Amino acid sequence: MNLVEKVRQQALEQPEKTAYHFMGKNTSYSEFEQTVDRFAKALQDMGVEKGDHVALLLGNTPHFLISLYSAMRIGATVIPVNPIYTPDEISYIVQNGDVKVVIALDMLLPLVEKGVQAFTKVEKYIICETAADTGEKVAALSDNARAKTVLFTALLKTTEGTAKSATLVEDDNAVILYTSGTTGYPKGAILTHGNLYSNARDVGAYLKITETDRVIATLPVFHVFALTVVVNAPLVQGATILLAPRFSPGEIFELAKAQEATVFAGVPTMYNFLYQYAEGDAAAFKTLRLAISGGASLPVALLHNFEDKFNVRISEGYGLSEASPVTCFNPLDKERKPGSIGQSIINVENKIVDPDGNEVPVGEVGELIVRGPNVMKGYYNMPEETAVTIQAGWLYTGDLARKDEEDYFYIVDRKKDMIIVGGYNVYPREVEEVLYSHPNIVEAAVIGLPDPDFGEAVCAYVVVKDDSVTVEELKQYCTEHIAKYKVPKVIEIIDELPKNTTGKILRRSLKEQAAK
Ligand code: AMP
Repeated sequence: MNLVEKVRQQALEQPEKTAYHFMGKNTSYSEFEQTVDRFAKALQDMGVEKGDHVALLLGNTPHFLISLYSAMRIGATVIPVNPIYTPDEISYIVQNGDVKVVIALDMLLPLVEKGVQAFTKVEKYIICETAADTGEKVAALSDNARAKTVLFTALLKTTEGTAKSATLVEDDNAVILYTSGTTGYPKGAILTHGNLYSNARDVGAYLKITETDRVIATLPVFHVFALTVVVNAPLVQGATILLAPRFSPGEIFELAKAQEATVFAGVPTMYNFLYQYAEGDAAAFKTLRLAISGGASLPVALLHNFEDKFNVRISEGYGLSEASPVTCFNPLDKERKPGSIGQSIINVENKIVDPDGNEVPVGEVGELIVRGPNVMKGYYNMPEETAVTIQAGWLYTGDLARKDEEDYFYIVDRKKDMIIVGGYNVYPREVEEVLYSHPNIVEAAVIGLPDPDFGEAVCAYVVVKDDSVTVEELKQYCTEHIAKYKVPKVIEIIDELPKNTTGKILRRSLKEQAAK
């Protein structure tokens, strides 16, 4: 079984069922299947073959779902890219990823003009219209660029016949995900059809997603968390995706109410915004049975505040691009432990090891390593990086964690984020938890900065609700909750924390700013 086959099966078994809802319009599984087939034929007609690379520079619109499933159907490998990346970032991925066809939003037309010169391997640009004048803009391109450009809707209209589906085996490449690049250059994690299908199936089963679910998809679809949890898992289970073009608390509450959403998935920053939103009341999430958090650690205080306000249970999980991504989740039918990423999901093993690769005793901190059908094949064209990351079949996550007697895992921090103050280890997460529990703190991030006396010093950046709180008070508050060496030496109150597009707080940017 694979994702393409599974959707075909859904279209046969429940043709009228809504596969996705977007801006007031429902698309059934059979309509989705037919569109995917037609678009796959269009790709085939332009010469896309099994093994070719197709980059998607798209947001949360149906274009993404159609392009992804069409390309996979004919055996092409999809490279989802954040459409708001800078030209340099996009250029790196298109070239490093040997892309043959680019499917992009019309706002990226200027890049097509440039790309025609620079990206020698790209044969075609398929442009998705989001504005009325896209056709005119394409007509105004240079001759060279125009010759390589075609409109998404025009392609769908003019294509006839059916695609010749590729025979897909587990080990065939499905997507290449360029990971956040928080450690060196972005690397393309190759996920196979076996990887993607197994993780969508297993996380869906673990979170009890069924065809009655209506899952809000506001996480950016080009990121692995969204790809598996709010796109592939719902489709595999025959559920309905409620596609939200962007994240805005007011719009999410409206969508949840109007469409009777049952599942919401988000990163902690989204939970924070939803919680802080003045007009969000319990009624907004009345139909929700499950809220899923991942991508970064969810502060325990926020978890409780959110649950109290909306009367919805949050299940925190954990994953990374290289594991398709999910490895752990808090179970639904057993105890849910705040602050924990839960237990290993079906078919996936998680283990905590010391620097020599030996498992550490329960309760001790070590590196989290993962094994299972979800673990990537390797990094594209980077055998050395692959060999460091996957050893004897185990994926080394670079995250520090511990496990309790009941096999619940706790992320303590990322290896490189650990701060050492005079020989004592300080994990930023622990200090952030304390700061988040202060009633006047909205967001907090903790980093280590060089210190002449202790090697490193703990520094905190915080966003506050109002100016009534002072730095001295916050330090005093921390002193009451954590050992003295963990109390931030410096606390800076700032307007906003730097974040990436998935809402992850960028500690590295804070370090760079602080160094300046
Ligand atoms: P990405 O490949 O962009 O999905 O990033 C994966 C990284 O996000 C992991 O290696 C962790 O450092 C972090 N991460 C994901 N989920 C969690 C979580 N629940 N708690 C703490 N860190 C997380």
